[in-house]
Amino acid sequence: MRIDIMTLFPEMCETVMSESIIGRARKAEKVEIVCTNIRDFSGNKHNKVDDMPYGGGMGMIMAADPIYNCYKSLYGEQEPKPHLIYLSPKGKTLTQKRVAELSKLDRIVLLCGHYEGIDQRVIEEIVDEEISVGDYVLTGGELPALTLADAVCRMLPGVLSDDICFEEESHFAGLLEHPQYTRPSVWHENEVPEVLLSGNHAEISKWKRKQSLLLTKKLRPDMYAELKLDKNDKKLIED
Ligand code: SAM
Repeated sequence: MRIDIMTLFPEMCETVMSESIIGRARKAEKVEIVCTNIRDFSGNKHNKVDDMPYGGGMGMIMAADPIYNCYKSLYGEQEPKPHLIYLSPKGKTLTQKRVAELSKLDRIVLLCGHYEGIDQRVIEEIVDEEISVGDYVLTGGELPALTLADAVCRMLPGVLSDDICFEEESHFAGLLEHPQYTRPSVWHENEVPEVLLSGNHAEISKWKRKQSLLLTKKLRPDMYAELKLDKNDKKLIED
């Protein structure tokens, strides 16, 4: 998969995307991530990419041309057009389900706004989807784009050691993950649940499932209400 990030702050994106698991995945060519500076397409000698809003109001608006020219320099008239996502507080909130769908695409382009946002006309012309990372406003689209890119990358084949790594995690199957522990087995007089030390894999699986169900019920009743529990699950939470 290739992920393009169109931004005024390519170094910020490059730095984050070069670390840890994603950095290793890039080196191993499991994913290609290209950060492109919208400012390089300003088309004026002062490298200006923003202007005052028509109709008045606070702040500056990113102009259409630099964004359009940046996109055209990456993909020109190429067909099929890559899926272009504008990170925006007006978008649909990102979910693990949408992350999984996006991870199946060959290419996505992430457009980061800044200042007071982007001229609506370029959004209408090139954007396929607007995605938000939550109902709050950040100074720019870079952190949302990095959040989305990170979440998508870890679902690509070979990025994590095994698919089971994300399949058992919170949100993958509409559940929160069970609690996790590591050594030492006793810490501050608090012991790891005995079953996890038993070596009995069937019992450990049952315990994990039960904890997931109970935790989801307690912390996310909205998610719990959507679950379709089979008779084994019902028995587990009653026991
Ligand atoms: N004036 C805009 C509004 O009220 O909807 C907010 C602009 S915000 C200060 C600047 C940029 O940050 C946006 O263009 C967008 O790219 C990004 N941004 C801010 N909050 C976001 C969020 N919750 N999710 C995704 N992107 C966000």
